[in-house]
Amino acid sequence: MPNNIVIGAGISGLSFGYFSKDACIIFEKESVAGGLCKSFKDGEFTFDYSGHFIHIKDKKIKDFLEKILGKKLLTVKRNAVIYFRGREIPFPFQANLYYLGEKEKQECIKGIKNRKNVKIYDDMPFIDWSKAMFGDGITKYFMQPYNQKLWSYDLKKLTAAWTAPFVPKPSAESIIEAAYKKNDVKYGYNSEFYYPPEKGCGAVVEALFKKIKHSVLTDVKTEKIDWENKTVYAGGRKYFYDNLISTQPLPELIKQLQNPPQNILNCLKNLSSSSVRCVNIGIKYKKELPKLIQGKHWIYFPDKEYPFYRVGIYSNACSKLAPEKSYSLYVEFSDADNKYDSKCEDTVKYLKKAGIMNTDDEIKAVSVVDMPCAYVIFDKKRKRTLEVINDFLNKNNIYTTGRYGAWEYSFIEKNITDAKNLALKLNKRK
Ligand SMILES: Cc1cc2nc3c(=O)[nH]c(=O)nc-3n(C[C@H](O)[C@H](O)[C@H](O)COP(=O)(O)OP(=O)(O)OC[C@H]3O[C@@H](n4cnc5c(N)ncnc54)[C@H](O)[C@@H]3O)c2cc1C
Repeated sequence: MPNNIVIGAGISGLSFGYFSKDACIIFEKESVAGGLCKSFKDGEFTFDYSGHFIHIKDKKIKDFLEKILGKKLLTVKRNAVIYFRGREIPFPFQANLYYLGEKEKQECIKGIKNRKNVKIYDDMPFIDWSKAMFGDGITKYFMQPYNQKLWSYDLKKLTAAWTAPFVPKPSAESIIEAAYKKNDVKYGYNSEFYYPPEKGCGAVVEALFKKIKHSVLTDVKTEKIDWENKTVYAGGRKYFYDNLISTQPLPELIKQLQNPPQNILNCLKNLSSSSVRCVNIGIKYKKELPKLIQGKHWIYFPDKEYPFYRVGIYSNACSKLAPEKSYSLYVEFSDADNKYDSKCEDTVKYLKKAGIMNTDDEIKAVSVVDMPCAYVIFDKKRKRTLEVINDFLNKNNIYTTGRYGAWEYSFIEKNITDAKNLALKLNKRK
């Protein structure tokens, strides 16, 4: 009997497997391990499941990834902008008011000067948090429209609990100062990021997969969990466990529990998420890269007239992802079900309109990746709901980790760290 059964062989499940000293079986429902960190080839282009650039704070994680890969990661200095009313504003918007038109600039400055002195707390509605942090102008021109697009959720119900590592918070003084002179401070968790030198982000999960000593069973989906008898049903067989580690989306885990307590079932209605559709496009240019994307890694689109919220340029982060005289893009739509044209004509029309593609560029590859559960919604009920669920699960030796297992807004570095810490905590063999 394995000590540990792991559901999912994404970066979290694989990292758990790597650091677990006890017997483990990892189930993966897809035919290839890697989850959202996979990459794939389409013709001569390599695409991720939307750009997966690795930002790392802890040098130990960088060393770990380089050890696994047997190669140095590329170090890339971020060049990201916001495409706002036809202008390029360096990221983050709030630290670069200098680049706005005069009317918008004055409105943003007035907004920050006139902020109401309200108590700021994690669980406050995002829109109130934004006004309290940055004022009405910055909220009106960037925070509100961009986050509305990204989250596809009522910003009065979304809380600010996710913002801490992701939204740079320069002081009011420095925001105003940077309205009058160019700012060269690099803000944010990803001002520098890392990327494998070839084969996309997927190189990391591929390398990790090869280093794991436990069984990783692909094409096997867990179907049912008899938590009272510590048994998992998967691929027509049953498996007993000491500990069950789930990285699959938390609502799916709850739905697989046999006869769950009613209070746990009731939690399901408090767990919601938004989806992302990523359109990957490989393009050959005639004369040169379109001006707007030269040197850029990604561009935010807060304006309503564009249906996508972000466009990234893979080939500017790693030239090996596209052949010569070509470039490759990821175009991200939130909750896009009804907005997408299967031939990608609309997407291309808007890319050309913004200047992300030249009119005479030739499309060589198009791949659509749907991520039905992409961003976990942070609302007032989330924290308490997770406490109730985890209390029940942990008492029954079921543990959750990963972006969707733990139901959080996380990233590769945190996924590795959390899975490692869980494995070390559960290791019987020390
Ligand atoms: C649009 C987008 C862009 C992102 N960009 C970045 C970025 O630039 N940098 C960064 O660090 N992070 C980024 N992330 C976050 C990153 O993708 C996640 O943090 C990471 O992939 C989470 O890994 P995971 O293993 O926890 O989950 P997953 O990758 O979702 O892995 C879970 C695995 O479980 C499997 N599974 C599910 N149910 C079952 C079942 N019943 N039985 C068996 N297997 C099952 C799935 O097939 C999957 O392989 C991004 C996320 C999104 C949505």
